[in-house]
Amino acid sequence: MARSSVASGRKGAQPFDPASAPFDVVVAGAGPAGATLSLCLRDAGFRVALIDGAPSPADTAAPDTRASAIAYSVARLWRRLGLSLEGEIGASRLERIVVTDGARPGPGAGAAFSSRLVITADQDLPVEDFGEPLGWIVENRRLMAALEARLEEAEAEAGAKLVRYRPAKAISCVDRGPHAEISLEDGRVLGAKLVIAAEGRLSNLRASAAISTSGWAYGQTAVSATVVLAEPHEGVAWQHFTPTGPVALLPLLGNRASLVWTDSAAGAAALLEIPDAGFLSLLSRRLGDGPQVVALEGPRRAFPLSLLSAERMSAPRLALLGDTAHGVHPLAGQGLNLGLKDVAALIAVVSEAQSVGEDIGAEVTLARYAQWRRFDTASSIWSADLIWRLFGNDQLGLRAARDLALATAGASSALRRILAREAGGGLGDRPAGLQA
Ligand SMILES: Cc1cc2nc3c(=O)[nH]c(=O)nc-3n(C[C@H](O)[C@H](O)[C@H](O)COP(=O)(O)OP(=O)(O)OC[C@H]3O[C@@H](n4cnc5c(N)ncnc54)[C@H](O)[C@@H]3O)c2cc1C
Repeated sequence: MARSSVASGRKGAQPFDPASAPFDVVVAGAGPAGATLSLCLRDAGFRVALIDGAPSPADTAAPDTRASAIAYSVARLWRRLGLSLEGEIGASRLERIVVTDGARPGPGAGAAFSSRLVITADQDLPVEDFGEPLGWIVENRRLMAALEARLEEAEAEAGAKLVRYRPAKAISCVDRGPHAEISLEDGRVLGAKLVIAAEGRLSNLRASAAISTSGWAYGQTAVSATVVLAEPHEGVAWQHFTPTGPVALLPLLGNRASLVWTDSAAGAAALLEIPDAGFLSLLSRRLGDGPQVVALEGPRRAFPLSLLSAERMSAPRLALLGDTAHGVHPLAGQGLNLGLKDVAALIAVVSEAQSVGEDIGAEVTLARYAQWRRFDTASSIWSADLIWRLFGNDQLGLRAARDLALATAGASSALRRILAREAGGGLGDRPAGLQA
């Protein structure tokens, strides 16, 4: 639990006093990206304040039913924090990805798939990554519990460099020259050399820095739930495309899987309403000759889907991180991966700046971070969008083109290796935190 003593000791509107501002960095947003960043910053020797508007990760209107597919190189960040993927995070190895296209929705649903692409860790990953899975499937609520426990430990240490303010909602951030002032909803003001906006897609700090966003709603909603499978999944993730949206099953511990079933907003609303037996029967038709699901574990929850891209990732003394900077369609499982790659790049940039005596919040420092992340972010946002357009359309020409694309990729070991490395987050200029 966050220290209420910190919170209660600073009640009421106060003018900012740099001498009483003990922080190098204030991180707004203790979601998976902000929490991971705070722990990494603290391990790198920075004094950090982590604030979040919600009382605790579990204290949300509805439980987080989602799991996240995290690339093997990206998951190294948590290992470096001393968190065990197989232990406290309870992650499941992702050994193979099967992508299929073919069965139409409606009465014909369930027909055999017309084309498929299979990527396998032990065949398609490069030799130097032998033994790694393609990625790890992490249940969001278990991940947040593990991060929460580590934050608590860090905060309880003598001379702790990490302090949490919770519940505390950030309202605005102002550049005051050598430091930034961050105002909280309850009137408190914190100061730091650098402020990180990791508040998710709706960000007060991004708005206060007048950073605009572009994007759109997909008119689709993902229904997420945990399901029990009839047969052992052997670490296989399924992604099946249909014209109304993809259906994905991500392998979890204990022969369970995380289901993400994307449909129109109306279709998803209906999927939430029907009783479990009806839902399972529709799902089995939709999965066709894919894995058989025998039961639901826990509730179903809906996530309306949209694309969001911030016009820039930094402003004076402020950097955007995670979904605050970029929100992608979940079909490629890239959202949190991008946020964690932001974490690794930011840690590398500010550590380097600190080591040579530079100001960690200076524009030139933050420009390096923004520059490093620009290409990966843009290519991930737009490739997920392109895949959605290509596979979410049943025009004959497009269908032939994507079937050809799947068949070509499936038949070419070179292409499969590139896709495996992409899935594993192993392509591009990787910050030290993501390297073996
Ligand atoms: C159905 C679905 C499936 C997905 N699957 C995958 C996947 O397989 N792989 C993957 O990589 N990604 C996946 N994603 C994306 C992933 O869930 C998100 O990218 C990720 O949760 C974003 O994390 P974040 O920390 O940036 O933001 P969030 O998780 O949104 O956290 C933001 C935090 O900020 C706090 N906050 C908000 N406003 C304020 C404020 N003003 N002041 C203080 N605190 C504030 C909130 O309380 C919250 O704790 C999926 C998404 C969906 C919808």
